[in-house]
Amino acid sequence: MKVSRRNFIKYCIGSAAALGLDLSVVGALEKTLAAGGGPPVIWLAAANCTGCTVSLANRISSSHPTDVADLLINTVNLTYHPNLMGAAGSQAVQTLRNASKTSGSFILAVEGGVPTAFGGRACMLFTENGQDVTALSAIRDLASRAKAVLSVGTCASYGGIPGGAPNPTAVKSVQAATGKNTINIPGCPAHPDWIVWTIAQLLAGTIPALDSLRRPKALYGKAVHSECPRRNQPWASDIGIEGQCLQDLGCKGQNTYADCSTRKWNNAANWCVGANAICIGCTGNGFPDKVSPFYSTAGAYPPGHPSEGTTTHCSQCHGSGGQLPAGHPDTDGQSCTSCHGSGGAGSLPSDHPSIGSQSCTSCHSSSGQTLPPGHPATNGKSCSSCHGDDD
Ligand code: SF4
Ligand code: SF4
Repeated sequence: MKVSRRNFIKYCIGSAAALGLDLSVVGALEKTLAAGGGPPVIWLAAANCTGCTVSLANRISSSHPTDVADLLINTVNLTYHPNLMGAAGSQAVQTLRNASKTSGSFILAVEGGVPTAFGGRACMLFTENGQDVTALSAIRDLASRAKAVLSVGTCASYGGIPGGAPNPTAVKSVQAATGKNTINIPGCPAHPDWIVWTIAQLLAGTIPALDSLRRPKALYGKAVHSECPRRNQPWASDIGIEGQCLQDLGCKGQNTYADCSTRKWNNAANWCVGANAICIGCTGNGFPDKVSPFYSTAGAYPPGHPSEGTTTHCSQCHGSGGQLPAGHPDTDGQSCTSCHGSGGAGSLPSDHPSIGSQSCTSCHSSSGQTLPPGHPATNGKSCSSCHGDDD
């Protein structure tokens, strides 16, 4: 079934709460579509797995319009999309050229990272007049003339999996490859609601507020951990345990920003932690390398945590779940030193485990000796057990 503009508005109003769309945006969208539709959207796919397109096409509703891909093609002028459009070959290329004839009149959405080695020849998008056109040259050209550029998914936003080490084709994010500021919608894949929400903002003439990684704050403003139902629950010591926090198995929720724990996935059926899998940090800059191996605490620490980047499991320092002393207020992901400072009876060395609200002497005995600055925690050992009897 063809979806009318009226149905798109109905969809946006009906889904406004779920999508997080402000009603003023829905009103502006209504005016834009009543006036003949917003700018055409050109979607290019570079080094990618097409997962973001599959994710978008999976947004299914029980009432009309039922399918977002259909809706975008038939109402929002998704003029060019290599997988969803009906046209092929030179007819498709002509459609793209017609839609991008006037600078500043179209929105460019890119899925996938951009290979920049070998003059970009590791990734060809189409053939035009007998010449192969690389993703690098097409994206550079269109980005320089687009009204706005959307990087859909983590590969386009930050390089993602195709940009992972050793990265032989020198894959870069769209922003790094073109020099043009992008609006990033990371995720591996991006959630269909995040894509629709962002396109709806642009069609309504609104540029959403962005964070330092150029992600819409309305979608990526909170850590996954902050509203996880397993927060403050005992730590699971093995996979497959219902209801327990997966932090000690390597869950990156504390340091990953997205609304998955409340929005959920697959038409709100479930999400990663709900399915007993850890959050692997797929919306972050540096995914997957900086959060690998996934089942370690690499990349999982909250901001300010000492020894970031180690693969030590949380329980080595924090015990097996009751990491905070009884009665300690919720830390909201902050490190101990953001409240307790690093002073007291001597600065904590950089690799010192969290002390909660304990005093130094609760671990280091009260014998009066002061550990030199930078000395590691003794964990109750006597000096002579490391330094010998003469020290
Ligand atoms: S660490 Fe992971 S499982 Fe635990 S509360 Fe945070 S997001 Fe949920
Ligand atoms: S919970 Fe984490 S890994 Fe799962 S989709 Fe959200 S950000 Fe990505």
